[in-house]
Amino acid sequence: RQRISPPVLPESKEERPFPGRAMPIEKLRTLSRQQYLKRREQKKLQELKDEVEDEHYLFQGVNLTETESRRWRYKNQVYQLSKKKESEGDHHGSSEEYRMPEAYDDEGAVHQEERFGVALKRYRDASDLEKTWEESQIERARFNYGSKNKKQASDKDYPFVFENQIAFIKASVMDGDEFDDKKSHDDTTTAAAAKATSALDDKLQEERKTLPIYQYRDAFLQAVKDHQVLIIVGETGSGKTTQIPQYLHEAGYTKRGKIGCTQPRRVAAMSVAARVAKEMGVRLGHEVGYAIRFEDCTSRNTVLKYMTDGLLLKEFGDQPDLAEYTVLVLDEAHERSLPTDMLFALVKDLARSRPDLKVLISSATLDAEKFSDFFDSAPVFKIPGRRFPVEINHTLAPEADYLDAAIVTALQIHTKEPPGDILMFLTGQEEIETAEQILQQRTRGFGTKIAELIICPIYAGLPTELQAKIFEPTPQGARKVVLATNIAETSVTIDGIKYVIDPGFCKKKSYNPRTRMDSLQVAPISKASANQRAGRSGRTGPGKCFRLYTASNYQDLEDNNVPEIQRTNLSNVVLILKSMGIDDLINFEFMDQPPPEALLQALELLYALSALNKNGLLTKVGKKMVDFPLDPMLSKMVVASDKYKCSEEIITIAAMLSVGNAIFYCPKDKRVHAENAKISFHVGDVGDHIALLRVYNSWKETNFSRQWCYENYIQVRSMKTARDIRDQLEGLLEKAGIELTSNLNDVDAIKKCIMSGFFPNIARLDKYGSYRTLKHPHTVHLHPGSGLAEVLPRCVVYHELVLTAKEYMRQVTEVKPAWLVEIAPHYYQMKD
Ligand code: ADP
Ligand code: MG
Repeated sequence: RQRISPPVLPESKEERPFPGRAMPIEKLRTLSRQQYLKRREQKKLQELKDEVEDEHYLFQGVNLTETESRRWRYKNQVYQLSKKKESEGDHHGSSEEYRMPEAYDDEGAVHQEERFGVALKRYRDASDLEKTWEESQIERARFNYGSKNKKQASDKDYPFVFENQIAFIKASVMDGDEFDDKKSHDDTTTAAAAKATSALDDKLQEERKTLPIYQYRDAFLQAVKDHQVLIIVGETGSGKTTQIPQYLHEAGYTKRGKIGCTQPRRVAAMSVAARVAKEMGVRLGHEVGYAIRFEDCTSRNTVLKYMTDGLLLKEFGDQPDLAEYTVLVLDEAHERSLPTDMLFALVKDLARSRPDLKVLISSATLDAEKFSDFFDSAPVFKIPGRRFPVEINHTLAPEADYLDAAIVTALQIHTKEPPGDILMFLTGQEEIETAEQILQQRTRGFGTKIAELIICPIYAGLPTELQAKIFEPTPQGARKVVLATNIAETSVTIDGIKYVIDPGFCKKKSYNPRTRMDSLQVAPISKASANQRAGRSGRTGPGKCFRLYTASNYQDLEDNNVPEIQRTNLSNVVLILKSMGIDDLINFEFMDQPPPEALLQALELLYALSALNKNGLLTKVGKKMVDFPLDPMLSKMVVASDKYKCSEEIITIAAMLSVGNAIFYCPKDKRVHAENAKISFHVGDVGDHIALLRVYNSWKETNFSRQWCYENYIQVRSMKTARDIRDQLEGLLEKAGIELTSNLNDVDAIKKCIMSGFFPNIARLDKYGSYRTLKHPHTVHLHPGSGLAEVLPRCVVYHELVLTAKEYMRQVTEVKPAWLVEIAPHYYQMKD
């Protein structure tokens, strides 16, 4: 080991080619495309520079090997070269080396990958530096393929990873299933042989035959023939979701109608439908399609329809006998999602009146007895899984920061363990994006010293095009790390996973009857979930699971997940059931009864919204509300727009609110610009609802321009979703007999209309600068992201409460207390 001093970098900030100078928003707006591209190029350059500096910082005080130092110098040279090019004004050609703004658009963030690749490409052009390039290539080859160097890679070569190593203790080995290992082995070998010889289509067909369910195809079809209701239990990945509808189709069940298969998750419905369409060699949306809220990708000749459970519930309301279906598959039954639970009861009832209908309940957990009991002792069809032993490791002590621990563990696996992909469970999009960034940063620090780590995120909001990435086979010599939410627990199966990192948390919905508030909070998972997660690593071979909690933590976990129906706001459920003519909710046959308190509160709210009359029957308003696929308060707001003659504006607001809080986009290095852009929509302290309306209308004025979105730090993808939702709502308005009228200049009318749906969400400023909710008083705060956060109006209406460190009101608008008398006198019994 030889000590080499780090390369010299320009010290002062002034020397930076593109100091982070805030640019006024007006300027941003008038940027031409050319300027825009130039700016992006400058930004890339700056990033490269930062990278070099980062490493400078990171390597300080570390003994550098010759290799490290060389790689480093080389990067610096690349940077200097780019800078030179830049100052010569050579923008030709170089701009096409960058990704076009599409990438920026679709990811909602600047693509960081290939940053170095870009530099390399330039570098190749520069003949004077050719030699260094060669050296680096040789080095790269050595590290990727040279076994000698690889073997020597010991702890001290990875100072960042092993600085704060996590120690695990092997707890147990989860046994493989009773499944005949030999057989499965034979299967895989034949599959492998088939793979090598046949074309793509045949290959897919062969792959289908290797799934555990395939051997039971005939027995399964016989069972369906013999029984009206069947419970199917099979390990995740055994082929339930993708194969069962296909088998039924092949057996002729689609001759007289459709097969509907429900999924609790939108992403699962979409990705599975895409997979099945591919297996069947048809175009998605034709014979095989999917339908989720606000998006119908089916056609007249669709016979296999994957959909969310909520959507089937909606169809139940429109068409109580579901005449177009010959088979219903309620998939992922173990998830016990609210709509699936409701479907259990409804489908059970329907099966009695439609003897021709086949009902399949499919679940990934073995305790199917409960389902069987509920469906009058329906037979259980078990598909033996193919599961290899999984080594379970626990941490010695609880980890304070599970995200960091998860990242360190991933790098530990990557550098120490034999090949095989990693699946990391995180709780949501934000965490996944953070983890992605950190992993990118840290692996970049290693450069070519370690094998490539391909990072694949998957979460509900991920655009469909990007979802496909997780299923792509990992190239030789690389390792994939999938950063997933709970969706990868049972809903989607990713092949090739050998290591699972389980921090032990997920986001759970919970309803607090005291504050009448739904919240989505990070909470510990159940034992059942922990075992499911671990099982993901043993699908294609023996696996390892790294739990970032101790063995005794595990013992403290709940055995099973609490069904959603017992921990959520039920107003939507009640409205739907009422619209189906089910009035006796107390005696309605739920698999698990919801808490009576929550049921009562739902009835109260619907009564206050005038959706129910005092006998608890659906009113005219209520009937109209059911037509909109929105939560009751939002749909009431839409229905009320008839009265205030502002339906154009209100459906825009409803659509924007339905998109969630992914409208504004704030890149870390452009915070000031993004903030400025955001503020420009809030001029006049109009409140968040009107600001959303302005965003949409401005976008519409530019003819839905992408460019406009970039310039204003607005996410194009979210805006497009909002536009789709709005289009649908417009269609539904017509159906509900509400005229499309615009009343843009009467802001008060719009606010009153919002209040007509959201009057239960009124809060008043208290003397401490926080707020008290009016009806069931408790303390809440303005969300820091609200345009009114600095204004502190006296009385506000809010769209929702979110619980993080405090209870925050999100999407807030100022209202006049006097309006309450006009809009909700029955709710707030006014004394004076
Ligand atoms: P189950 O429903 O029993 O958990 P699936 O039918 O979802 O199982 O999955 C069966 C197999 O199909 C998986 O092992 C996986 O290899 C493959 N598969 C499923 N979805 C996709 C997809 N979107 N892309 C590629 N392969 C997939
Ligand atoms: Mg499935």
